[in-house]
Formats: sequence, structure tokens, C-alpha cells
Amino acid sequence: MPMNDIKIVQSKANRLRFILPWLLDKLLPGSCLLCGGVSQDALCSSCCVRHIDWHILRCTVCAIRLPGLSHVSLCGTCLSHPPSFDATFAATDYAPPIDHLVQHLKFQARLPLAKAFGRILSDMPTPQAMPDLLLAVPLSLERLAERGFNQSLEIARTLAHRWNLPMSGTVCVRVKHTQAQASLPLHQRRVNMRHAYAVQNSRLIANKRVGIVDDVMTTGHTLDELAQCLKRHGATHVTNFVVARTPMR
Ligand SMILES: [Zn+2]
Ligand SMILES: [Zn+2]
Repeated sequence: MPMNDIKIVQSKANRLRFILPWLLDKLLPGSCLLCGGVSQDALCSSCCVRHIDWHILRCTVCAIRLPGLSHVSLCGTCLSHPPSFDATFAATDYAPPIDHLVQHLKFQARLPLAKAFGRILSDMPTPQAMPDLLLAVPLSLERLAERGFNQSLEIARTLAHRWNLPMSGTVCVRVKHTQAQASLPLHQRRVNMRHAYAVQNSRLIANKRVGIVDDVMTTGHTLDELAQCLKRHGATHVTNFVVARTPMR
């Protein structure tokens, strides 16, 4: 089959993969994806109460869990090697059953979950200094074509709407297509992300507090690289808002 025909077939298959779950979500009566109970949201309020815990003691910079009854607010890594971002808010740990839901959103295009995650983030205690602008971690064009949507951007839309903040999906782009971070050993992830991002319009972020939305934070290398790039272009503060944080590095 000629190359162009293969691309057309692939893109049709992609669209179908994206449209079918969306149609099912629109047509079927709302139910919680975890307990199956009736719910207008992809996650019902009792499942949110059961599985989302904002009150876990976390490092204020990278949101890694701190030992219980800890009197410090920073982890050892952030003290010895401060990252480029200034703070991270995480709604919960990347652990069952939330990890399955994140994968459902990403790989099965369950977009109502993005809305539910955005709402969960918006209900967290808000930072003292709110960002001036929200961005989502950008995907490479190749990854975007393969997936059909950027899950972080979908989460950011709801968060921006509920916090009444401006959001941009174009200020910053991913210029390097690399292997997925999750497929690499931890020590290779920083190198994999080097020079991965570029700012297209510095004017929009210069002297601004920027909030970055992401679905999962694991080592933090992706967010660190992005924050470094934003600060090179004049952002004064960078705060991450992530749905799920891995409990350990
Ligand atoms: Zn439920
Ligand atoms: Zn930390």
C-alpha cells in the first residue's frame, strides 16, 4: 500500500478510536467509572472522597510525600538540587485506582475523566499566589497525531475555566519527539527531555506567574525541563498542578 494511503487509514482508525468512547459517554446515562454508581461526572463524589487526599504531607516544591509528622516542607532532593519550578500541587498519589483512570484517559480517550480531573484540581486548596496563565505540558506533533488529543490540555481547560484563568495551548511547544518517559529507566529520563521544549511567544509569559498542568509527575524531569525553558523566556514563577504524583522517585 502506498505511504499516503497508509497514513489515511491510520488517521481514520485514530479518529474512530477517539470518537467511539466520546459517543458512548454522550449516549449512555452518566455513571462513575470506579463504582458504577449514577454520576454526572466520570468520578462520583464519594469515590473522590475515598481516593483523593489533598491533605497528605508533601514537599512544597516537588510534591513527593514527606514522612508523617515531618516538620520540614522540602524534601532532601529539592534542598540539595532545587528544580527550576517553584512549587507543585498534586491531587493524589499515582496509585490504584487513580493510575488506571489516568491510563484510561490517555490510551482509551475517556475524555470525561479529563473534566473530572480538572474539577478535582480546581477544588484543591488554591495557592496563595495564583498563576497569571495556565499551560499544559505540550506533546510532540507525532505523539499528538498518534493519540488524537493532549490529556493535560484537556485537564487544563477545565481548571482554567473553573479558576477563571487564561490558558494557552500554543505558547510553548514540544520540539523534540522522544521515547515516552515511562518506557525509559529513571536515570535516562533527564537526558531524554533535554531541549525538548521551545517558547513560541515570549511576550505572553514574560514577567508572568505560569501554572503548568500535567496528568502524572514521576521523576519531575519533564516539568523541570519545561520550567527551565519558561524561565529562560521571562516567566517569574512556575507552579505545577498535577493530578497524580508517584509516591517515590
Ligand atoms: Zn464512584
Ligand atoms: Zn521535593
